[in-house]
Amino acid sequence: EKLGLNEIREKFLSFFETKEHLRLKSASLIPEKDKSLLLINSGMAPLKPYFTGQEVPPKKRVTTCQKCIRTPDIERVGKTARHGTFFEMLGNFSFGDYFKSEAISWAWEFCTQWLKMPEERLWVTIYQDDDEAFEIWNKKIGLASERIVRMGKEDNFWEIGLGPCGPCSEIYFDRGEKYGCGKPDCKIGCDCDRYIEFWNLVFTQFDKDEEGNYNKLAKPNIDTGMGLERMSVIMQDVYNIFEIDTIRHTLDYICSLAGVEYGKDPTKDVSIRVITDHIRSVTFLVSDGVLPSNEGRGYVLRRLLRRGARHGKLLGFKGPFLSMVSKKVIEAYHQAYPELKEKEKYIQNIIKIEEERFEETLEQGLEKLQEYIKLMNGTDTLSGEAAFKLYDTYGFPLDLTKDMLEEHGLKVDEEAFIEEMERQRKRARTARGDNEAEGWKEDIYSKLDKNIKTTFVGYDNLSYPSII
Ligand code: ATP
Ligand code: MG
Ligand code: MG
Ligand code: MG
Repeated sequence: EKLGLNEIREKFLSFFETKEHLRLKSASLIPEKDKSLLLINSGMAPLKPYFTGQEVPPKKRVTTCQKCIRTPDIERVGKTARHGTFFEMLGNFSFGDYFKSEAISWAWEFCTQWLKMPEERLWVTIYQDDDEAFEIWNKKIGLASERIVRMGKEDNFWEIGLGPCGPCSEIYFDRGEKYGCGKPDCKIGCDCDRYIEFWNLVFTQFDKDEEGNYNKLAKPNIDTGMGLERMSVIMQDVYNIFEIDTIRHTLDYICSLAGVEYGKDPTKDVSIRVITDHIRSVTFLVSDGVLPSNEGRGYVLRRLLRRGARHGKLLGFKGPFLSMVSKKVIEAYHQAYPELKEKEKYIQNIIKIEEERFEETLEQGLEKLQEYIKLMNGTDTLSGEAAFKLYDTYGFPLDLTKDMLEEHGLKVDEEAFIEEMERQRKRARTARGDNEAEGWKEDIYSKLDKNIKTTFVGYDNLSYPSII
């Protein structure tokens, strides 16, 4: 009998309750007091004030299941087995209470005792200089040294600018050759889906000062993040996060609505997975109060929804369909997130309105793009001007255009696109007779990329460029 996603969530939270953690509800996807962050992207993000000492936590040990959005992963969605733009992150946190030894031991205990994961399939990474973590894994846990892989700063050290930071240790599961890339040098850290990273243990033990010194924190913290969908993939032994119980529910419905079969055509499968992913994000974003717009969070929502709608076209949908699909997301998730059920009608209405609005320009935009591609005459880069036209006249977010071009092996001149945005901004400014730069602080175009780029990324060491 395979564990369902809801059961895994519950097991995790109750496990940490047995270790005297206080269970807190997921915070909203909209950060409460944090201007540096567009959307919550990790379990620790809403708890930041407890880590910095700005606020006193209700208990020194806390456990949560946090809704997260990571748009920087958007281009990987549907292509890797393990990335979604929306996912749930389980975590246990210590605010100056327990530290490395407990965090490692409990993670191991949960995996091997509570979930009964086979030990011989588990691997860990540590930060190259973290001998303390090595000793705990090797001596206390008894993990063979070959399965403790030392990694560099980029992968296993968490820091954002100055302040609290520290090494981390990640737990991986070897899913076996059938999920791998088959290359002879395929090993942990390979970008394929064989060794799947599912848990990140962050040991916040330093405070980085302005001279770049790492000073030892008197009271170090623990922050961990375990991907619920990834753990479900492992426990259910399915190919990817879209095939786990709660998400498959949506995927199957999309297939039945579109009259397509999953697993028959790799290109269609990508579209099916993209829609499955994006509608989840959209449903949760709307339930947390985000509305489609041309800036900030609203633009993230719009991008996801429009990208989903366009993949619907690839599957043969003739009109709006996403609001219907959101019903399936709500069915699978309302027990854990009652707000979904409470706002069901509202969520569907918002999605429907935005879908209909986009529907009006989508077909024409697609034709226009075909025209542009013909005019490119075999060159591989669409001009910024053309991409801007698609954005401005047809409502195509840049990543939608990029996505479409990529299917033809083509790309877009992104710098020139941004220049076009700037130019548009200046024109609008002149037209308004507004010469004061001040008034432009709220400008939608500058805001949209600035906001997205300054997104606080938690311990996700961003290796993908943020996209508009
Ligand atoms: P990856 O290297 O696979 O992109 P990450 O190192 O960026 O993951 P962390 O920032 O360490 O991820 O987040 C902690 C955990 O959250 C990960 O170990 C994983 O289980 C989960 N997670 C991260 N990003 C995603 C995503 N886009 N979709 C689903 N789960 C995710
Ligand atoms: Mg990683
Ligand atoms: Mg990680
Ligand atoms: Mg990542």
